[in-house]
Amino acid sequence: MADVILVLNAGSSSIKFSAFDVAGGALDLAAHGQVEGLFSSPRFVAFNAKGEKTGEHAWAEGTKLEHADAILHLVAFLRGRAAGHSLVGMGHRVVHGGARFTKPVLTNDEVLDELETLTPLAPLHQPHNLKPIRIIAERNPGLPQVACFDTAFHATQAPLAQAFALPESITKQGVKRYGFHGLSYEYIASALPGIAPDAAKGRTVVAHLGNGASLCAMHAGKSVASTMGFTAVDGLMMGTRSGNIDPGVILYMLDELGMNARDIEDVLYRKSGLLGVSGISGDMRALLASSDERARFAIDLYVYRIGRELGSMGAALQGLDAIVFTAGIGEHSKEIRQRVCEQAAWWGIELDAQANDRGDPRISTASSKVSAWVIPTNEELMIARHTLALIEGASA
Ligand code: ADP
Repeated sequence: MADVILVLNAGSSSIKFSAFDVAGGALDLAAHGQVEGLFSSPRFVAFNAKGEKTGEHAWAEGTKLEHADAILHLVAFLRGRAAGHSLVGMGHRVVHGGARFTKPVLTNDEVLDELETLTPLAPLHQPHNLKPIRIIAERNPGLPQVACFDTAFHATQAPLAQAFALPESITKQGVKRYGFHGLSYEYIASALPGIAPDAAKGRTVVAHLGNGASLCAMHAGKSVASTMGFTAVDGLMMGTRSGNIDPGVILYMLDELGMNARDIEDVLYRKSGLLGVSGISGDMRALLASSDERARFAIDLYVYRIGRELGSMGAALQGLDAIVFTAGIGEHSKEIRQRVCEQAAWWGIELDAQANDRGDPRISTASSKVSAWVIPTNEELMIARHTLALIEGASA
């Protein structure tokens, strides 16, 4: 009987899954896919490890599919194909671990209750991340479920790097810089020694450029600083999020523009970034393909903001040995990589244009003072590794 670990990444309107076969100590991707558009027009799609479609289903337009029903559909699909396989554990992406959870944890009622208290710190993500754990625990209480946190990798940052210059009465409520995308950075840190040993040992900035985007300053594979702070809206310009802005702008929106907190949240999280600036799209591919002047300006600002924040990360590291690009834009857009590297030429980055066109792991020249790399991230594998380690630890 082959063991399987199922990884879930549940958001407000989608649930992504990856199933890994546990073969000896290794984890092999067996299937992946998602249910998306839960509350508009739900669609399910699944692929095998080769990327061939193995299942799909669409619900009627306007159907509102609860998370529980989406998960039941998913589990039923996997069961139907699981002859000879046994589900030994589930791993979940949970955005916030707060101050207590600085490592992945086996969940139980007490852990889940505590994680729920962190909802005010990540209201758009935390409740959706936790919901599937409760749903599965009710139906299958004996199944080990592991929560893996996007904040945990940054727990190594010094108190100075985590602090805001705010009064203690506010700071002690947990208002500090946590940092996010930690599972992605942890995966990159685990891959670096095999791909770029000097970058693994040195001062490296990893640029996770997806719909959400952030930079992480790593020294010898440990997080030293990051551009995301208390929430995942800080730092870089993103697909639809603003990144950092003068906090006075928020007061202006409140006092002068008659906006309330929910209106402002909507602007900062869903209507800003590439979408807000271009007025066209939050999708980088669409902007790169557009000849509209506003699309050009949005891309210029996106690259400029990365350059500014790269300076800040380099200062936190007291120098720079390597930069690594990852996630959708980082892995696939040679134009954005080229522009970021050109802008960062003063750091001593010399791009190898052909290597960049090919998307080689190393995209800087042999003589480049600071090396540049493209490494695909794999947050799901990172979650599966943690899940396997905790299950094995619990049964040892
Ligand atoms: P998420 O953060 O939701 O996981 P991804 O990591 O998949 O998102 O990144 C999505 C972003 O990557 C989108 O802006 C998309 O346009 C961009 N992207 C994907 N492929 C390309 C490409 N070939 N060229 C430019 N941008 C791309």
